[in-house]
Amino acid sequence: MNLILFGPPGAGKGTQAKYLVKKLNSFQISTGDMLREEIQKNTEIGKKIVNDMNDGKFVSDEIVNTLIENALFDPQKKNKLIFDGYPRSLAQAENLEILLKKTNQEIDFIFFLNVNKETIIKRIEQRKIVEKRSDDDLNTFIKRFDTYMETTKPVLDFYSKNPNFYEIDGASKIEEITAKIDNFIRV
Ligand code: AMP
Repeated sequence: MNLILFGPPGAGKGTQAKYLVKKLNSFQISTGDMLREEIQKNTEIGKKIVNDMNDGKFVSDEIVNTLIENALFDPQKKNKLIFDGYPRSLAQAENLEILLKKTNQEIDFIFFLNVNKETIIKRIEQRKIVEKRSDDDLNTFIKRFDTYMETTKPVLDFYSKNPNFYEIDGASKIEEITAKIDNFIRV
């Protein structure tokens, strides 16, 4: 089973992805985590992206698409993909369609965790304390949210026509969101 968790920054995609990875014995495909790892390891990619990431800007499609391509072509991960934070633009969504076709895979569920800005701001403040993420200060968050509204919302319009698309209230408690997802996937 392949899933996409979709929603604004701070919507709880990572939390649900980690739950689903265990439940479905799958792999979390978080471009944010992959990119942070590149920065931590100080790789060539890491050096290129560090400023954009800290500013809350998007990393280029070229870099992100390469990371995704590796995951899709990994035979161990076939039909065990939990996308978290990808696709984030129409170009990325189109790239994913192509890669899915090439690797003979499909997306079984798209879950949109819908949360408003105020709720997320509270969460981000909390996460900043717990995870110490350098892109979690309020100004960066507002930039990330605005980028989401501009660039990622069109992806939502694209996926909302899909029969496997489900909107979930992302302001609910973690366990409630998990229960709703469980109910849809029925595994
Ligand atoms: P996330 O952990 O998903 O919130 O992502 C953190 C940051 O990584 C974002 O603000 C972007 O700078 C970058 N990033 C993550 N995923 C993508 C993506 N699919 N496309 C472009 N940039 C991304």
